[in-house]
Amino acid sequence: MSNGRIALCRGRWAAPDTLTSPVAMYFEWTEPDVANLSGPVIFDGHNDVLLKLLVNGGIDAVPGFVTGRDGHIDLPRAKIGGFAGGFFALYVRSPIDLKARYAELSKPQYDLPLPAPLTQDAALSVVMQEIAILLRLQEIDALKICHTTADMRACFASGKMAAIMHMEGAEAIDAELHVLEVLYAAGLRSIGPVWSRQTIFGNGVPFRYPSTGDIGDGLPDAGVRLVKRCNQLGVMIDLSHLNEAGFWDVAKHSDAPLVATHSNVHAISPHSRNLTDKQLDAIAESDGMVGVNFGCAFLRPDGQVNTDTAPDTMLRHLDHLINRLGENRVGFGSDFDGTVVPDFITDVAGLPNLREAMIMHGYDDNLMRKLTHGNWLRVLDKTWHRENHGQKD
Ligand SMILES: [Zn+2]
Repeated sequence: MSNGRIALCRGRWAAPDTLTSPVAMYFEWTEPDVANLSGPVIFDGHNDVLLKLLVNGGIDAVPGFVTGRDGHIDLPRAKIGGFAGGFFALYVRSPIDLKARYAELSKPQYDLPLPAPLTQDAALSVVMQEIAILLRLQEIDALKICHTTADMRACFASGKMAAIMHMEGAEAIDAELHVLEVLYAAGLRSIGPVWSRQTIFGNGVPFRYPSTGDIGDGLPDAGVRLVKRCNQLGVMIDLSHLNEAGFWDVAKHSDAPLVATHSNVHAISPHSRNLTDKQLDAIAESDGMVGVNFGCAFLRPDGQVNTDTAPDTMLRHLDHLINRLGENRVGFGSDFDGTVVPDFITDVAGLPNLREAMIMHGYDDNLMRKLTHGNWLRVLDKTWHRENHGQKD
């Protein structure tokens, strides 16, 4: 896809150290091009920027989010990309040998062992630091932590970045769910019971290709309790990373729409992280949704971490999801700052290229609005019943 405008834009942002004033640079950018191409803003189901800020200086790294930083997301590039915000993950890393990991992932077939489980104390400590970063971002007016869809709509109208506090892997939460109550009061509105790791609440899938997610047991009692309490609170349960037996247990016990924030189509890319058509049918039946992950390994039929991945590959996933789930149940879950994304996007400033590809593919204005942010509002309207309806006991 030729796109001289975006290539120019991306070139200017390729070396942020050379910029004396990124904000000034943004205003020099020809806004009409972006506005014409962008279409509706994108609200996104998953990013890992809080972890990246934590490991790059913690609270001290926060100003870089406003002025420009390495990585996938910052405010200046979010403006260029028409990125309205998303689910900001509280995520705790396992000690991983990255070199060995990428060596394994570059094989035609791979099977990374699950990292060891984390202790609650260690996980909670990291989560507290990440929440502190998110709160500081809000304090300096970089974003707003949204508790309701009314909050999100107000952000979209004003141009303020909208953030949902999301936990990816619930290791920080104790079996009695005391921490859940406290984090809910602090603004937590979405939880994935597992990352690709075992927790007391369930089992994650290993990064395995080719494979289904049918690996390991379903939810233990604590996992079922977590699901039921999240239902009561109106906290969204995220099925991404959960194994298939756990998926079906959530489907059985949850009374909320089934949502996978950042997963793709197994029929196109037979990766353990992706969803089979049977799972997609259950998501449709529950009136839930799926956010398309930008990670090359989850998009590509060959499962490879290869950034030379064309827009058509992502459009295949979108088309399949729209056919299987209906056009009200598909959105995006980029995994920005947590995965390797295709060259045609590269980072949040590249989102106009994605919108352009979607429009060229024939998606009309109404469908564009749904896919880019409307469907997230729809499913959260249904899931966050408690706050949205003012039912606070
Ligand atoms: Zn993830």
